[in-house]
This record gives sequence, structure tokens and C-alpha cells, in this order.
Amino acid sequence: MAAQSLGYRVCVLDPDADSPAGAVADRHLRADYTDLAALTQMSALCRAITTEFENVPAQSLQELARLCAVSPPAGAVAIAQDRLQEKRFALACGLEVAPHRSVASAADLDGVEPSIAPAVLKSVRLGYDGKGQVRIERVEELRQAWDSLGRVPCVLEQWLPIEREVSVIVCRGRDGASVVFPVAENQHRGGILATTIVPARIDAPVALQAGAAAATMAERLDYVGVLCVEFFLLAGGRLLVNEMAPRPHNSGHYTIDACASSQFDQQARILAELPLGDTRQLAPAVMLNLLGDLWFDRGRPRTPRFDQVAAVAGACLHLYGKTEARPGRKMGHVTILGESAQDALERAGQVCLALGLEPVR
Ligand code: ADP
Ligand code: MG
Repeated sequence: MAAQSLGYRVCVLDPDADSPAGAVADRHLRADYTDLAALTQMSALCRAITTEFENVPAQSLQELARLCAVSPPAGAVAIAQDRLQEKRFALACGLEVAPHRSVASAADLDGVEPSIAPAVLKSVRLGYDGKGQVRIERVEELRQAWDSLGRVPCVLEQWLPIEREVSVIVCRGRDGASVVFPVAENQHRGGILATTIVPARIDAPVALQAGAAAATMAERLDYVGVLCVEFFLLAGGRLLVNEMAPRPHNSGHYTIDACASSQFDQQARILAELPLGDTRQLAPAVMLNLLGDLWFDRGRPRTPRFDQVAAVAGACLHLYGKTEARPGRKMGHVTILGESAQDALERAGQVCLALGLEPVR
């Protein structure tokens, strides 16, 4: 939609017939991400190609890059697809990550020091929204946890006493110029993003540090496109890199309504080799995710009270047009703009009440 509003025509490749992006695109190629004929067709139709989903095989992007301009670079996507490589990369950038170790084989289970627990075992690849993760209280639970993940390569991470989670969206052009959006504060429920509050309620030096860290990572990746870096903030202002996403990110959805230029507008500008947009935030914002759970009342289907949401001043409703609501599935979001941070929180409270969401704190 951002590219279309700049006057471009858009082609989407997605195997799903009901793909929300496919429905608004000028052209929907319904094919698998590895379908060589479809990839070739896409490269013939398009001047520039990007991805909005990090699990498109890096190799498909590599294929496309031989035929036309592709961003982000396949190499950066490959790192973001692998939690171990991602941590190694953050460390190489001089940044801190959670204490962790690789669990790639049964033999790796034996040498694990008990002091790493409580911990979380994460599949190295293909996890999102808390999927592919198991929490363990004691190392004795490790074997069973690894079995439950299908004995795939994993990373075991110490469970940290997080004070706040924050993220930074950085946009970097082909010419190496980059801009960052204000630091976002994220609250997760069950491993899924529930709420984003911007600006994050953190000290200014920590916000600067997070922005600089994200910019450094983009630079070192020779990144082109929109990149999100998620951080854990521990006591005393200690900032750790959690993970990165090589695409516009859920924690940046607030930019559509709250900033001079949205993260999607930036992505379109980067593809079109236009100057980067203005990341200035025009109003304090709270973003609430709308998960499929809201479409059910004790198991019975229902339609959430969007009429009541629409009645709240400053509430901007976005529904993605997904045909089937399922618990945990991201169906849409609401961004609530306020005169002040406190005002945005209060209005968000009204939206929570209308939808039956847990109140924002
Ligand atoms: P995903 O790819 O599913 O977003 P994350 O690694 O970001 O995976 O984990 C999802 C959420 O789980 C995090 O945002 C955080 O709330 C929690 N979490 C993950 N790892 C840890 C950890 N080591 N310590 C504490 N909480 C964690
Ligand atoms: Mg995450």
C-alpha cells in the first residue's frame, strides 16, 4: 500500500490464495517461495524486490538477486534466520547477548552447566511469536524440551530478569544513508507482542545506545532495507540484543499513524532509491495487537466491538483481512494517538475495555 501510494504497481508472491498482501497488490503470484518459475516471472515483472517475512529461503533471494535488485541482502537475511549466527554477529558488533550455548546433538545435552537454568530452549531456525521455544526451570528438563522441539538444532538461553523490552527500526538505503525511528517499548504475552508504547519509557542515554546499536548492526551487515532489532533491558540500564528481523516489524506498525513517514513508506523509498523519509514522531502512541483470540468468547465465535474502538478519539484501526481467526494469530492492530504519553495510555485503556483486552500498564 505504501508503494502504491507513491504511484508504483506491486506484485506479491505468496502461496496463500487469501494472502492479505495479495489482495491489495496489483498482481498476486500464488506460488511457493522456492518456485523457480514464479521467482523468474517476478524478476521479469519487477524493478525491485523485497521480503516482508524472514522465513523466505535466503537462497530464493539469492536467485532473484542475479536477475534484479533485491533487498535486504540474502546474506543478512541468512544471519537473521539463524539464532546462533545472529548472536555471534551481535557479539562481533561489540554488543551484549544473553548467556547461551548451542544444542545441536544429544551429546550437547550432557555438558550443560546447571547454572544456566532457568532458561529457554529455542529452535535455531523458523521460530516466531514464541513458537519453537520451551522454558525450562532446571537442566534436568532439557532432554524432554529438546525432544518436544523435534530434536532440531537449538540454542539454550539463560532466562533473564528483563526490566523492559525495547526495539529499534533502522532504515538503510543503497547509498549507505540510514535513519532510526524512536525506540519502542514492547510488552509480550505468551511470547507474542501484545503492546507497543512509543516513546519507550527509558532513560535518554539508553535510548541513544539502542539506536546506535541498531545502526551499527545495519551498517556491519551492509544492510539495505528496513531492519528491526529487539533488545532486553536489564537492571542498571544494561542493554542486550535479543534478535533482529530483516523486514518491517510489528513493533513498528505504530509508525503508520504516528510518524511523518512509516516503516513501510521507508521500505518503498529504499526500493525506489528515493531519499529516506522523516522518522519524526508526531504524537505519542500506543499500539495494541489484535490476536485471533478476540474473535472468540469462551470458544464461541464473535465479532469484536470495533464500533466501540472506532468511537475512541485517536484510535486508528487496522484489520488485515485474514479470512480465518485463530488463537494467537495476528489479525490486525489498533494504534492510539494521544496529546501526551499519559493521554495515549488512557485512550488505549478505553480500547482495551471495548475489546476485552488486558489493560495497558
Ligand atoms: P520470537 O522470534 O518468537 O519473537 P524471541 O526470542 O524474541 O522469539 O522471544 C519471544 C519473547 O519471549 C521475548 O520477546 C521475551 O518476552 C521472551 N524471551 C525470550 N527469550 C528470553 C530470555 N532469554 N529471557 C527472558 N525472556 C525471554
Ligand atoms: Mg522476538
